[in-house]
Amino acid sequence: MSHVITCPSGLAGRIRGMKVREERILADRKLAKSGGQVDELLGACWQETLEPGPYDFGDKLIDWGQVLQGDRFVALLKVRALTYGPEYAFAVACQNEGCRARIEWELDLCDLPCRPLSEESRAAFGDGNRFETVLPDAGKRVWFRLLTGADERKLPQLRRGAGDKLLSAMLAFRVAEVERVDARERRQFIEDLTTRDADFRVDEFDRVDCGVDTTLEIERPECFSTQDVDLPFDRTFFMPGRELNSAGGRVG
Ligand SMILES: [Zn+2]
Repeated sequence: MSHVITCPSGLAGRIRGMKVREERILADRKLAKSGGQVDELLGACWQETLEPGPYDFGDKLIDWGQVLQGDRFVALLKVRALTYGPEYAFAVACQNEGCRARIEWELDLCDLPCRPLSEESRAAFGDGNRFETVLPDAGKRVWFRLLTGADERKLPQLRRGAGDKLLSAMLAFRVAEVERVDARERRQFIEDLTTRDADFRVDEFDRVDCGVDTTLEIERPECFSTQDVDLPFDRTFFMPGRELNSAGGRVG
């Protein structure tokens, strides 16, 4: 079964669910380490590009490395929904200290709110993926970029190398230029940002980006609590009903 999908940037194409052979992609540890699984999976399930949106693939096939994270994620959700249906069930722990009860939750992946790429963002992306903003405390202009598939591949390594400086490493990764700050001093500049400037930057990233909002509000009436959780992607996301048993699993 194939389906026409329009991603948040306007990229549109024909996409299908996974076949058995694509499960091998998910089970391939080497690919998982290289961060290439999503590219392989999307490459296999994307059948035809109908509208390239803001991308220039020339007369070649779609290059998932160029595609924005927001688009990739929406395509991935679609593959999942076409393969196993849109319902996704998972469990999270109650965040109440002293409770930690297991909360069972289920949602429809097609109901997640999705933000399109704005005209303004599309123009900035097309103009070399450069977004400008001014930090309120530092009073400096900075230029940053939206993350693409090629960037996504570098994230596992970045996380491993960042240690306890993950936030500043992530910020530095997205910043292309800081006004009157030399490239060699950029990392230090970012580590010295005020919390307000750092928060502002993260909000700016979100404001100009496109895609699905994966923050969920989960209620647990027994605890009179509501908590925000980030949609978890455990192994049941791509293999529902095939949860690992104690004898060992299919997915690493
Ligand atoms: Zn609780």
